[in-house]
Amino acid sequence: MSADAAQMVPFDLARMFLGDLPPLFLLEIVFRTALMFLWLVFLLRVTGKRGLAQLSPLEVAIVIGLGSAAGDPMFYPEVPLLHGMLVLGLVVGLQRLLSHLVIRSEHVEVFIEGEPVELIRDGILKGQALERANLSREDVFERLRAEGVRQMGEVQRAYFEQDGNMTVFVHAKDAPPGLPVVPPWDLEWPRVLGPEEDYWGPVACLGCGDVRQGSAGEVHPGPRPVCSCGNEKWTPAVTDPLAPAGAGAVTDDHSGGGRGPGAPGSAGH
Ligand SMILES: [Zn+2]
Repeated sequence: MSADAAQMVPFDLARMFLGDLPPLFLLEIVFRTALMFLWLVFLLRVTGKRGLAQLSPLEVAIVIGLGSAAGDPMFYPEVPLLHGMLVLGLVVGLQRLLSHLVIRSEHVEVFIEGEPVELIRDGILKGQALERANLSREDVFERLRAEGVRQMGEVQRAYFEQDGNMTVFVHAKDAPPGLPVVPPWDLEWPRVLGPEEDYWGPVACLGCGDVRQGSAGEVHPGPRPVCSCGNEKWTPAVTDPLAPAGAGAVTDDHSGGGRGPGAPGSAGH
């Protein structure tokens, strides 16, 4: 047993509530907590990927702030109870205050909660938006699959919302062909058209999903163009990647050279 532990008097109320520090230190805690909490909210806002957290930066800050402030006074004898209680009260008070300001002020709301980001417009992924939302292309494809989307052409608009969810608006019917997101690329990479390979039908950019039309017998001979997103790999654009052999590929039956994902000649509609 150490000397400190031997000298410690259990249930010494002065030590339990105030410790060795002067009461004015409580005021310093007000300042410390306010500063740390706001800093926490700011850091979470800047670095946090709300898509996975499903909590707003404000809520995550609450959990972190409450967590250690509640736990430490429970079993560290040198942490006075009043200090911990004050911190808890302040964190909740600050949360109430910021929530109030978020409702009152558009500027505060954008700062604390961010704003919706348009991720997809007319089947094309917006690269800069992905960076802003701190999402990878695979993250977006995963969300699209969760919404039942099979290929990018189905998507008219997709937004990354303030609460971390992705909302997807799809064509009611007759969606144009696009970049397949099914099956997941980790399982099966889409067929990459050779740089010199002739292909009859629309092709989709593997980088952003932009579709170059080539229907009605128009040939897409090599070399394939570089997309505006900087990518040079193209894949056949399909209306339904899961359709039985070749039926989803938009090819002209008479073209001969055009080949969907399936075997040639099996493209029955
Ligand atoms: Zn592209």
